[in-house]
Amino acid sequence: MLTDMHNHTYASFDGKQSVADVCVAAEKAGVGIIAVAEHFDCDARGGMEHFPKHFEQWLRDTEKAKREYNGRVQLLRGVEVGQPHVFLKEARQIINAADYDVIIGSLHDVSGGRDIYFMNIDDVDAFFEEYFTEMLQMIGTRVFDILGHIDYPVRVLKEKLNGDPSLKRWESLITPCLKALIDNGIALEFSTVLSRCWAETFGIEPWLLEKYKKLGGEMVTLGSDGHVPELTCFGIEKASRVLKDCGFDKTTVFVDRKPQFILI
Ligand SMILES: [Zn+2]
Ligand SMILES: [Zn+2]
Repeated sequence: MLTDMHNHTYASFDGKQSVADVCVAAEKAGVGIIAVAEHFDCDARGGMEHFPKHFEQWLRDTEKAKREYNGRVQLLRGVEVGQPHVFLKEARQIINAADYDVIIGSLHDVSGGRDIYFMNIDDVDAFFEEYFTEMLQMIGTRVFDILGHIDYPVRVLKEKLNGDPSLKRWESLITPCLKALIDNGIALEFSTVLSRCWAETFGIEPWLLEKYKKLGGEMVTLGSDGHVPELTCFGIEKASRVLKDCGFDKTTVFVDRKPQFILI
């Protein structure tokens, strides 16, 4: 069965779809289990104000969609917490505000609130050293279930990486993060976004998946990070195939914040 654990609705500051839109997109793509995980970021983009404003409506909409699509699509709900290590108190508050199925932890900014999308990165080696060091701190908070899009910066670094999306050069920085995920029972997300930005491949390359597996990792979630109906579930089928080719016969989903394994 196809699964997609990472999507956004109007309850995210940059989401442009309803909860029902997400379920319709899942049905269309043959995805049987789908999650909405809304932004809650400590940053300057309004990521911390937006979700609480829409929270009550979102709870009602997700409850309604769960019932309406029951038997066709299993809808799960959660939050994507950005930089939880920077504002742990607020992150914990939002995490405890509802009975979520899943919490995704993501690094959208590096220290000092610098948004990776708008940073001027000249020295990619220095940048990735900072990025993965901070990622390790974030994993150490253990407040989330899935590490979101490990390859996030690659989306905006086409020129600086000379068109090569591989993260292999930073393997020595990535390995401690993979180990920390495994030690803390946190899943690794296989995000399909990069393949619709500029790279034909995904940021979770076969070497990275194989390394994770070799270290003892078993929990990989798939996520299209859809913010609009036409990109929700994008690339999920292809990502499932890549995952299978790398020796995983199951994807992971989280229900009531507990991992469940789904045969691909
Ligand atoms: Zn994200
Ligand atoms: Zn997201």
